[in-house]
Amino acid sequence: MGGTFDPIHHGHLVAASEVAHRFGLDEVIFVPTGRPWQKDGRHVSSAEDRYLMTVIATASNPRFSVSRADIDRDGPTYTVDTLRELGSQHPTAQLYFITGADALASILSWQDWPELFDLAKFVGVSRPGYELGIRHLEEYLRDYPDRAVTLIEVPALAISSTECRRRAAEHRPVWYLVPDGVVQYISKRRLYAGYDDAGRPGD
Ligand code: ATP
Ligand code: MG
Repeated sequence: MGGTFDPIHHGHLVAASEVAHRFGLDEVIFVPTGRPWQKDGRHVSSAEDRYLMTVIATASNPRFSVSRADIDRDGPTYTVDTLRELGSQHPTAQLYFITGADALASILSWQDWPELFDLAKFVGVSRPGYELGIRHLEEYLRDYPDRAVTLIEVPALAISSTECRRRAAEHRPVWYLVPDGVVQYISKRRLYAGYDDAGRPGD
């Protein structure tokens, strides 16, 4: 499961847990992005802070792990590179790429997207406020039945990292939206203090 994870929140964790259960996955690897090419323009916390929050949030689950693949690779993060790298690290594994409804909708704009389906099965999960539809993919996928995209409903949590950042910046609580250790890490590192709603540095 790839993401900016700025910060990781319970929406990410519930989605991962539900997909792992439904597909009988041995492991869910959270892959924080290096430089998210779609998020150029807004301030993104350092890769190390996002990596550490992801480690803190997943530490108690024996089936959850965190990969540095994207943050250690130079240049912008493209999912196709991530999947190639994870595939070579786990040559016998069947990979699944877990993505929320919003991210799945933009899949056709991703780098080398047709190859993505050769590298992994795709699982799109429901997310409040977004339609879980892949209308523009349907035509393409009809010709390639082995290129799997499965859509599943997961328990709805209307949580976003954007809202967590905004709350932290405004000294409103993020308790119970993100794991306790992540609340403490945000406050210890003063991560979102001084950023306005768009995440740009404030005065
Ligand atoms: P931001 O608001 O900064 O975009 P985000 O909450 O969307 O943050 P990302 O790191 O962008 O989090 O998302 C990583 C992946 O998790 C994406 O595939 C996204 O669709 C999915 N996701 C995020 N929040 C939820 C949620 N509440 N329910 C289901 N999926 C989610
Ligand atoms: Mg997002």
